[in-house]
Amino acid sequence: MIERKKRPDWLRVKLPIGENYRKVREIVDNNKLHTICQSGNCPNMGECWGEGTATFMILGNVCTRSCNFCAVATGRPNEYDTQEPERVAKAIATMGVKHAVITSVNRDELKDKGAEIWYQTVVETKKLSPKTTIETLIPDTKADWDALYRMISAGQEVVSHNMETVKSFYRKVRPQAKYERSLEQIRRTKEYGKRTKTGIMLGFGEKKEEVFEAMDDLASVGCDILTLGQYLQPTKMHHEVIEFIHPDLFEEYRVEGLKRGIKYVESGPLVRSSYHSERHVNV
Ligand code: SF4
Ligand code: SF4
Repeated sequence: MIERKKRPDWLRVKLPIGENYRKVREIVDNNKLHTICQSGNCPNMGECWGEGTATFMILGNVCTRSCNFCAVATGRPNEYDTQEPERVAKAIATMGVKHAVITSVNRDELKDKGAEIWYQTVVETKKLSPKTTIETLIPDTKADWDALYRMISAGQEVVSHNMETVKSFYRKVRPQAKYERSLEQIRRTKEYGKRTKTGIMLGFGEKKEEVFEAMDDLASVGCDILTLGQYLQPTKMHHEVIEFIHPDLFEEYRVEGLKRGIKYVESGPLVRSSYHSERHVNV
C-alpha cells in the first residue's frame, strides 16, 4: 500500500468559502457546465473561485484518455452538446471576467476531435463578451492538423497545450500521448500566429536535466509561456508523488527557463496552467 507523503507547509491552501465562491458555483450549476477546477480537484479553488473566476471544461467530463496523474473520469464519453458553446458564453458573461480560460477533455473518438465545439465556444464567448480575452487550453489532436487549426482559429488570445511532464515520463504517466507530437502541435500553433503556452507538473521523479531539456525543446518550437507546478496525487490509484519540490527550486527553474529562451515562466508549488492566467495575455 502506498503511504501518502505529508504535504509540506508551502502547499497549504485557502478553504473554498465566501460569497464569490457561492456565486461561481451557482453559475456553473445553473448552466449545467463542468469545470477542471472541480473535475481536477484543483487546490486553488478557494482562491480562484473566491476571486470570481473558474476554468470551464467543455465536451463533457469523461475523457477518452487515462493519464495516471489526472483526476478527470476516464471512459467512453456520451456528451456531445451543440448548445454547450452558448451556455459557456452565457456563464462567462454572467461572471463578467476580463479573462476566461476554457479547456476540454480529449475526445479521440470524434472525427474532428471536438474542434467544432471548441470553435463555436470561443466565437459565442467573444460575441457576448467582446472585451474578454480568452485562453484555450486544448487537447492533443493526434496530429490532425485540420482539427488543430479549426480549434485555434476562433480569435482566442492564448493557445495552451500542456506537455504535462518531461520526455522520459510519457509512457508511464501520459501513455496515449507523444512528447514529439505535443511539441509539434505547439510549433504549428506558433507558426499559425498564436501566443503559445504549456504546463509541466513536477514531482514524478524527473531529474533536473530533464526539466532543462524540456525547456530547450519548448524554446526551440517557439513556446512563449511555461507554467511549472507541483504534481499532487489525486487518489491512491494515481501516480505517487515522488518529491515535493522546494519553492527555491521552483524559482531556480523560473530563472533557468527565461535564460533558455522562454519569454515568461510562472513557477511555484501551486501554479497550474490556468492559475493567474490573465498575466499571460500580453506576454
Ligand atoms: Fe480552476 Fe485553474 Fe484556478 Fe485551479 S488554478 S481553481 S483549475 S482556474
Ligand atoms: Fe486528464 Fe487531459 Fe489526460 Fe484526459 S487527456 S486524462 S483530461 S490530462
